Amino acid sequence: MIEASPIVDLFGRIHNYLRISLTERCNLRCTYCMPAEGIVLRDKSNFMNTQEVLGIATTFVQMGIKKIRLTGGEPLVRKDAATVIEELGKLPIELAITTNGILADQFINSFKTAGLHTINVSLDSLEKEKFNSISRRNYFDKVVSNIDLLIASGFTIKVNVVLMRGINDNEICDFIEWAAKKNIQVRFIEFMPFSGNRWDWSKGVSYNEIMEKVNARFGNSVLKMPDKKNDTAKNYRLADQGGSFAIISSVTNPFCSTCNRIRLTADGKIKNCLFSGTETDLLNAYRRGENIEQIIRSSIWDKKAIRAGMESFEDFSNTDRNSKNRSMIAIGG
Ligand code: SAM
Ligand code: SF4
Repeated sequence: MIEASPIVDLFGRIHNYLRISLTERCNLRCTYCMPAEGIVLRDKSNFMNTQEVLGIATTFVQMGIKKIRLTGGEPLVRKDAATVIEELGKLPIELAITTNGILADQFINSFKTAGLHTINVSLDSLEKEKFNSISRRNYFDKVVSNIDLLIASGFTIKVNVVLMRGINDNEICDFIEWAAKKNIQVRFIEFMPFSGNRWDWSKGVSYNEIMEKVNARFGNSVLKMPDKKNDTAKNYRLADQGGSFAIISSVTNPFCSTCNRIRLTADGKIKNCLFSGTETDLLNAYRRGENIEQIIRSSIWDKKAIRAGMESFEDFSNTDRNSKNRSMIAIGG
């Protein structure tokens, strides 16, 4: 494959990581992600079909993308998910997926065929009733048993937990001990604002608060681990124990200066930032047979330095500004 020059923005950031949302549909209804009234489901023709996902992804890879993460909605509810995973696995990239885990047991072979080793699974509580209430469905046992199955099958598992005050912030240390026993990583994500999720930072739990709780419980056993260059997470582990934990602090400590991410929505729009209210249509240009490379380059060139231009915490927490974005379920995280 002939490689073009890398995709860069005005600030010199090289973009080599693509997150593709495969669908806006989901088998859960997490309160922090999907609006209570749901989202309007549109006709299939609005979304990338199998060949379009693969064709557009191939163009990105020719432009220097080294890693692709599949997300959604729930990526595994898509009917052609196995084909998409196995075909993308043929590209010279690292392939990863973020899933709620409910259907993961049906995809073990596809993951292995595709050479997909790293799987992020979302689980917001270790308490069944609480998990089911946050996700508005009853799949706790299935998710937990699939996490165990994925671990037993040799995958590298990271468990994502969106922390919400008064709901699951009392489980931070339990999650760390649980992850240590299973020898996996748990990642605490600060609650972020998206359209329809009734965000208000009083419901969020900050990096500093998380570390206060962790230090109070584990004291000197808490060890800082090195973070990778483009890592969005600050990584820690407990001395003499397996597993690790990490904190993703997009609200109180954004990591934009090393951002290397491009997002492609299921309806084929580029988002040059998770928080961007504007998007660039790629799918219709692709359908018209246009050269999409230039469209991709110019979309990324226009990327703002920090959180789609919401530099200060005041800007970021202003609902007039942060609600211009879509719901998370239609972006993919
Ligand atoms: N359905 C899959 C899942 O839940 O893992 C993939 C899509 S989901 C949108 C991707 C990630 O975004 C999940 O880890 C989820 O917890 C996280 N997420 C969703 N809404 C969020 C919010 N408001 N703040 C922080 N993280 C959020
Ligand atoms: Fe679905 Fe994932 Fe959003 Fe939950 S976080 S509603 S599982 S897309």
